[in-house]
Amino acid sequence: MRRYAYRCTVCRTTSPVVHHIEDLAAESEGHRLTLHGGHIPDAEAAGQVDRLGRWYASLGPLIGLHARIADGLSDLRDPKGTGHPFWASAAATLVLGSAAALVLGVISAAL
Ligand SMILES: [Zn+2]
Repeated sequence: MRRYAYRCTVCRTTSPVVHHIEDLAAESEGHRLTLHGGHIPDAEAAGQVDRLGRWYASLGPLIGLHARIADGLSDLRDPKGTGHPFWASAAATLVLGSAAALVLGVISAAL
């Protein structure tokens, strides 16, 4: 389940999380029309967020990958919820650690 949010830097507000890109467009358009007379605020942002409300675009590659894995695992039990249960975050860390150990093992075996 994907999650999207719209951020208006003029009003310093972030929209509620929506699950479809069409709802995000309606949210941003509604905000612009209602509060800014249809003008587009400078430096507004819209995009995909993780279950913790963090922008994927602002996360580093490793943290972003961890968030995507933890989001996928969390969505198995609660597709429209927010937050990560401890087990999902721990499992994502374990997956990334195992992958790193596997790569190091293969490299060290090849050398
Ligand atoms: Zn605004």
